[in-house]
Amino acid sequence: MSRIETLCVQGGYTPKNGEPRQIPIIQSTTFKYDTSEDMGKLFDLEASGYFYTRLQNPTNDTVAARICALEGGTAAMLTSSGQAANFYAVFNIANAGDHVVACSAIYGGTYNLFAVTMKKMGIDFTFISPDCTDEELNAAFRPNTKALFGETIANPALSVLDIEQFAKAAHAHGVPLIIDNTFATPVNCRPIEWGADIVTHSTTKYMDGHGSGVGGAIVDSGKFDWEKYADKFPGLTTPDESYHGVTYTKKFGLGGAFITKATAQLMRDFGSIQSPQNAFLLGLGLESLHVRMKRHCENGQAVAEFLSGHEKVAWVTYCGLPGDKYYERAQKYLPNGSCGVVSFGVKGGRKAAEAFMKHLKVAAIETHVADARSCCLHPASATHRQMSDEELIAAGVSPDLVRFSVGLENKDDLIEDIAQALAQI
Ligand SMILES: *Cc1c(COP(=O)(O)O)cnc(C)c1O
Repeated sequence: MSRIETLCVQGGYTPKNGEPRQIPIIQSTTFKYDTSEDMGKLFDLEASGYFYTRLQNPTNDTVAARICALEGGTAAMLTSSGQAANFYAVFNIANAGDHVVACSAIYGGTYNLFAVTMKKMGIDFTFISPDCTDEELNAAFRPNTKALFGETIANPALSVLDIEQFAKAAHAHGVPLIIDNTFATPVNCRPIEWGADIVTHSTTKYMDGHGSGVGGAIVDSGKFDWEKYADKFPGLTTPDESYHGVTYTKKFGLGGAFITKATAQLMRDFGSIQSPQNAFLLGLGLESLHVRMKRHCENGQAVAEFLSGHEKVAWVTYCGLPGDKYYERAQKYLPNGSCGVVSFGVKGGRKAAEAFMKHLKVAAIETHVADARSCCLHPASATHRQMSDEELIAAGVSPDLVRFSVGLENKDDLIEDIAQALAQI
C-alpha cells in the first residue's frame, strides 16, 4: 500500500476489527485519565496520548498521518490555516536575530507574514528570484541564516521552483529547505524526493478541494541532520526548560524532533489548531485528490490552450504550455501536470479584464483558488486594489492580469463561457 492513489484513499488510517470505516470525528476538547500520574507522564512527553485538543486530537493526527504518507515524510501536523503552517515551520527554527532566505515569488499572505510581521519579531528575510543563479542564491545566505523557503508552483506568479537548486544551496549552508507545496500537491510533486526537508500546505486549496474548510499542514522529511548543525538549532538540540528539559532530537530522533517541538511549544503557546470537524472534511477531500488533480490539470491545459489562441488575449501563463518560461522545469518536476490555475491578460488592460469577468456565467468572482468550482480574480481591482498601475507592474501583477482557477466542470462549458465573455468586450 504505497502508491499515491491508495495513500489518498486509505493512508494514515487502518481501522481494527469492528472500528469505523471512515475516520471518526473526535469532537472532544479533553481526554480522561484515571490518575494524575498518568496525566503527568503526558505533560512530560514521557508517554504519548491525548490530553487537550489545543495540542493534539486523534482526528487531526489521523489526517496529518495521511498527508505525511502522501509526502513521504516521517511526521506531520495540521494547523488552522496555511498561514499558521508557514509561520510555525519557520518560527520553529528561526528566532529574533536570525535570518531566512525566501523566494520572492510566493503567496502574498506569506510575503506579508515574512516581510512585515515576522520582521517585527526580529527575523530578517532576504527575497531571491526563482530565476536566480547559483551565485546569487549562495550570496543571499548569512552566518545567522536558519532556513531557505520557496513554493513549488508560486501563487499567483505560477513560476516553477528549481527545487534541486534550492536544496543544494540550503544544504551547502547547513540549513533546511522548506517548500510550500500547496498548488502542486503531493499527487503532482513530492518535494522531499527532490531534496526538500520540510513541506507545508494550505490545505484550504486542492487538498480540501471543495472550498469547505481553511486549514494547513506541516510535514517533516526526517532527513535534515539538526545535530550536525547543533549550534544553529539550539531549540531542537538543547534541553527545553518549558518541557522539563527534554531535548527534542535526543528524545524523538531526527524523524520526530521538528514536529514534536512545533506541537509541544508553538501549538501549546499560539494555539492555531484545526478543528476536528475541519480535519474530517480535509480527510474526505484527500480521498479524491488524485482523481481531482488529474481533471484540474486536463481542464487547466484545455483552458490555457484556448486562451493562448484567442485574439483578445494578450498573454497566458501556464507551465503546461510549450513556450511557457517554466515549461522545461515543469516537465522535470511536474511531469503529470501542474495545477488548474491559469493566469492571463486581456487586451485592453484593467477595464477589459473587469468587463470580461462580469460576463462570466460558469466561473464566479472569488478570492479563492483550487476549488471544484471554477473561479477567477482580478487582483488589480481586488487583493491589490490599493496599488497604482506602476506599483502593480513592479509587484509582478500587471493591471490586466486575471487569475483563473479552473475547476472540475466540463471543459467545453468552461471554454464556451470564456468565449462568450470575451466576445462581449
Ligand atoms: C492560500 C495559500 C497560503 C495561505 O493559506 P491559508 O489556508 O489561506 O491560510 C499559503 N501558501 C499558498 C501557496 C497559498 O496558496
